[in-house]
Amino acid sequence: MKSGINLHLDEVEALSSDSLKKSYKPDDVRRIEEFKENADMHERFMKEALKQAKKAAKNGDVPIGCVIVMDGEIIARSYNKRNKLRSSLEHAEIICIRKACKKLNDWRLDNAVMYVTLEPCQMCAGAIIQSRISEVYIGAMSGKAGCVGSVVDLLHVEKFNHAPFTIRGLLEDECSEVLSVFFDLLRLEKGTK
Ligand SMILES: [Zn+2]
Repeated sequence: MKSGINLHLDEVEALSSDSLKKSYKPDDVRRIEEFKENADMHERFMKEALKQAKKAAKNGDVPIGCVIVMDGEIIARSYNKRNKLRSSLEHAEIICIRKACKKLNDWRLDNAVMYVTLEPCQMCAGAIIQSRISEVYIGAMSGKAGCVGSVVDLLHVEKFNHAPFTIRGLLEDECSEVLSVFFDLLRLEKGTK
């Protein structure tokens, strides 16, 4: 199903029921309203992604975490292992998609929901489209590398046959903080050496 929704949490909260109905298609209105009703649940899952992000920092990897949820249950969790595994392919989202596919024994993740602490890059946005994940919730934005609106928006290209329902800015402060703490420490270590 095609959806053009890519909204920041602040935009969602500012939308009244009337403006929602005027500006969006009925199916999108239903999904936005569902999101608002279940905001606590979405935050809970993003907190699980944050827990994953913190594990990455312990390996010297940029703290980015991801979980994939299906029918209200987490079916895959992972974190960035680029440094640990010495490979640019080992992003949190890619590892998480691989785990979810293995668990479901299917490359299609049509009904899956992804929570990721940082805006996905071009590779991960591609994998999200390829695996047809239906909803993507993003914590912090990545101004110089993000491909869900910052540099480009690869998740909502009109001509692709899939576009996930996307909300940005979920637990944005917490997701940004875990990154800034990591980079502050890195700078401190470099400075004292
Ligand atoms: Zn990535």
